[in-house]
Amino acid sequence: KLSRRLQEVAAFIPEGTKFADIGSDHAYLPCFVCLNDKHAKAIAGEVNEGPWQSAQNAVQRFDLQDRIEVRLGNGLQILNNNEVNLVVIAGMGGALIKTILEEGKSRLGSVERIIVQPNVDERNVRYWFSTNGYSISKEKIIEENGHIYEIIIADKHDVSQELTERQLLFGPCLLNAKTDLFKIKWNHEYKKRMRVIEQMKRAESPNYGKLDMFKNELDWIEEVLHDGS
Ligand code: SAM
Repeated sequence: KLSRRLQEVAAFIPEGTKFADIGSDHAYLPCFVCLNDKHAKAIAGEVNEGPWQSAQNAVQRFDLQDRIEVRLGNGLQILNNNEVNLVVIAGMGGALIKTILEEGKSRLGSVERIIVQPNVDERNVRYWFSTNGYSISKEKIIEENGHIYEIIIADKHDVSQELTERQLLFGPCLLNAKTDLFKIKWNHEYKKRMRVIEQMKRAESPNYGKLDMFKNELDWIEEVLHDGS
């Protein structure tokens, strides 16, 4: 059974899409999508041989070889021009996702939608979207096994979406919706930043730039959590 997290990601892939899943590991996501949508096709990319092998095994087990191609290589380099309309990058840190997008920019010509699920540092990826012609059309925050995950859907746009510092940090759609889970996450993040600030203050030569950034973020979190709505 596919994790709730990846099922939520799958829900944002329109029917009949040919998509790439970068860092596919066991290729669970492409297999799930193709089993549920007979017109879907996928390319699963993996940079490591172990997961690449697992992906191939899964595709064979579900007899999906004619619809899912498993390729070994780094990030978006495994794609040729105009092969897919949608790219998924899930289950990695935001910094790595951003690097993969930046290094593979030239392969994104035909890609209308990018779905990411960063485990941390979502801000990095939002910033990349806002400076590379994609606008965030949907975001979802979910919980599974005690972890809170964010899923960000970005669609190609002629004009890049300008995001404020707060929108970059909290997510433009998530900030609008402010669900209970969102509040739980940012309560937790608030405490985390408090601890980091205490530690930094005790350091021999504190990094004042970083300290200020965290203090700013604390103010924003407080604002967002306590503005009554
Ligand atoms: N996408 C799946 C998910 O969300 O459950 C798997 C996530 S797994 C934690 C991350 C996978 O990304 C690993 O299998 C790793 O080998 C792969 N990976 C890391 N960096 C990569 C890169 N630059 N290009 C392709 N795959 C990469």
